[in-house]
Amino acid sequence: MNGQDQASLSSSANSQASVQPARAAQANRLMAITDRPAAVMERGAGSYLWDESGTRYLDFIQGWAVNSLGHAPDEICKALMLQSRQLITPSPALHNRPQLELAELLTQGSAFAQVHFTNSGAEANEAAVKLARKWGQQNKSGAHQIITTHNAFHGRTLAMMSASGKPGWGQMYPPMPEGFTHVPFGDIDAIRAAITNRTLAVMLEPIQGEAGVVVPPPGYLRELRELTNEHNVLLILDEVQTGIGRTGQLYAHQHESVVPDIMSLGKGIGGGVPLAAVLATEHACCFENGNQGGTYNGNPLMAAVGKSVVETVMAPGFLAGVRAREVQLRAGLIELAREFQLGEVRGQGLLYALALPAGNAVEVCDRAFKRGLLINPARPDTLRFMPSLRVEIEEVRDMLDLLRDCLRA
Ligand SMILES: *Cc1c(COP(=O)(O)O)cnc(C)c1O
Repeated sequence: MNGQDQASLSSSANSQASVQPARAAQANRLMAITDRPAAVMERGAGSYLWDESGTRYLDFIQGWAVNSLGHAPDEICKALMLQSRQLITPSPALHNRPQLELAELLTQGSAFAQVHFTNSGAEANEAAVKLARKWGQQNKSGAHQIITTHNAFHGRTLAMMSASGKPGWGQMYPPMPEGFTHVPFGDIDAIRAAITNRTLAVMLEPIQGEAGVVVPPPGYLRELRELTNEHNVLLILDEVQTGIGRTGQLYAHQHESVVPDIMSLGKGIGGGVPLAAVLATEHACCFENGNQGGTYNGNPLMAAVGKSVVETVMAPGFLAGVRAREVQLRAGLIELAREFQLGEVRGQGLLYALALPAGNAVEVCDRAFKRGLLINPARPDTLRFMPSLRVEIEEVRDMLDLLRDCLRA
């Protein structure tokens, strides 16, 4: 801010009053997508975020489970700085070192043979569906029906809106892409009953994130893997929200020791920058030149960040830290649920939900915001918690204390 701006801000007692309408007018230049609080966020560090007026927020949203290492972590700042000086983008038709190294990091010693990088989770899921459809053309006489689940969230492209099971989404922008059949989540018999000779794949989230952290019954993924093998149907897991350490394992499917044929990653892999990926096992890899692309796919700037994030999460002891904070968060939420006679506490790793049977989640989150705490009302009756994977003991404790105040009010 230069001297002149400072002078104009402090020149009159009315300066605050004149700044507010100016902000509102600025915000009107953005197309409407969601109701945002008036505060403008300026700076972040670790588990904290500050707005332009200097108010500090304890952040248990973290960019929507995106900032896996917290705000402005040294690893990412360093990767961005060094890589931006070196090479930002050569062209998707030329190799770059960070993309090659990140691909190696994600596939070496893993069940996955190949990866394709994208810029968003929706795009990664689109690529997953394209890959599956191509595989179906080659191996299942063109079967193309994909079974997905009610209340699923796979992103906001037209096809992913069709694939998602959010009420109303299938009709919002007709005509919508076809080829998706929806069944209840967590019900293996419903999937068994929906499989026909036109079925190509089953696609779902290991834990439904946007639906309010819905955890399927134990054994669901294992049974699903057996069922899909039996019918020669692909298993596509959308790990955009659950992947890269969020649930206390590198991938959520590892809790049940299953391997999907295709997996999408997003959110946490970029630690805050737009990076996503689709991975596939040898069995499902079938893209040939010309089948898929994208101007920014695998650009070295984002790939360098992804590499720093994945290396950090894979380092010895990191996931044990996530699980230790899970124990604390879970115990604290259960205590609050008991104290205030609330509903279920569910989740895994550092993706948790607390059910509010009174349906006042939006009100509780508004109250929390005013007290400097960011939590998300995933549904009118559900609070969701998705802190940095490096959240500290004191920060979890402070969040629980602040939440207690909000529930009491
Ligand atoms: C957020 C999310 C997506 C969409 O990712 P974008 O980067 O917003 O396109 C897809 N699937 C799941 C499970 C998600 O949580």
